Amino acid sequence: MSGIIAFVEHAGDAVDETGLELVTAGHQIAADLGTTLTAVLVGPGADAAAAPLGAYGAADARAVSHPDLGSYAPAAYAESIVQLVTALEPVAVLASGTEKGNEVLAHVAARTDLPMAANCTEIVAAGDGQWTLTRQRWGGSLLEDSQLDAPTKLVSLVPHAFQAAEVNGSGGIPVEAFEPHLDATVTAVRVVDHEASGAGVSLASAPVVVSGGRGVGSAEGFEVLEQLAGLLDGAVGCSRVATNNGWRSHSDQVGQTGTKIAPQLYIACGISGATQHWVGCKDAKNILAINTDPEAPLVTRGNYAVIGSLDEVLPAIVAEVRRRKGA
Ligand SMILES: Cc1cc2nc3c(=O)[nH]c(=O)nc-3n(C[C@H](O)[C@H](O)[C@H](O)COP(=O)(O)OP(=O)(O)OC[C@H]3O[C@@H](n4cnc5c(N)ncnc54)[C@H](O)[C@@H]3O)c2cc1C
Repeated sequence: MSGIIAFVEHAGDAVDETGLELVTAGHQIAADLGTTLTAVLVGPGADAAAAPLGAYGAADARAVSHPDLGSYAPAAYAESIVQLVTALEPVAVLASGTEKGNEVLAHVAARTDLPMAANCTEIVAAGDGQWTLTRQRWGGSLLEDSQLDAPTKLVSLVPHAFQAAEVNGSGGIPVEAFEPHLDATVTAVRVVDHEASGAGVSLASAPVVVSGGRGVGSAEGFEVLEQLAGLLDGAVGCSRVATNNGWRSHSDQVGQTGTKIAPQLYIACGISGATQHWVGCKDAKNILAINTDPEAPLVTRGNYAVIGSLDEVLPAIVAEVRRRKGA
């Protein structure tokens, strides 16, 4: 057993910041163990995306390709990695703690019967084989210290918990092609189509998010939230109640099972602030809660609150913002 492999996600021929963080952290762990890091990229564009990763500490890379890997298929990705684990016998497989990274690694764990530690923020890799980890639980509201002992450790890293840094000026590394043996069972679940998200600012990066929950009452009730978001160059978000009721699409959901956001201003309309919602909006710089209940958790935890019904408060805010903007 030697070496560490990192499943690095890429879009086309580019690896984003999260992937570079993974390679930098993986290189550091490998160096601590006196070994090297192999980057593994799957699907079209893998070889071009892999080449520059040497700058971030990868010693070499495998570009995995197969006719069935033209689009994302979690089991096929995982089976490819399992076959590389058999060939390379690494001490660990690392992935980004993204939806895709965690999904692929969970499939690898199920196929190999190895334990997986998801969403780690700190990793101390000891030479005796046991790793000490700190990982996020409950959507980041709890940090857990744990020990991981397995012949091959499966570990995902929380995005932005580690910093990407160039460690090598030259960058270029050997990229070896790898074609796995895949049967039809592993592509039963795969991406067949992509739907572009609607126009306007994206929820994840919007400086202002106007979000609605059960208190909005209906899909039509979101119209005034759309108006306010438009006036503030913001995006509209929602709670899970709004998505469950079919008022908004899941891509608008803020929270543990939605998007985690950190806008300058989060305006929560008729949202109580359950823990699963709070973990998605707690990093907002300012929170304004509009709620009829003065004891609602988002009212007590937020920076500002208006106690009142949305029917009255929101049209008044929209009218005032319009007046100040001269619109
Ligand atoms: C595993 C799991 C994952 C989950 N993931 C998420 C997640 O990602 N995101 C998420 O949001 N939830 C998530 N939930 C659900 C979460 O627990 C809550 O049920 C949900 O957030 C509640 O949504 P809400 O605040 O809109 O509704 P409620 O809790 O019912 O709150 C409605 C609020 O509206 C106020 N209100 C009512 N009428 C008015 C009015 N006219 N004017 C002003 N205020 C009014 C009420 O006072 C109340 O505070 C998850 C739950 C589980 C179990």
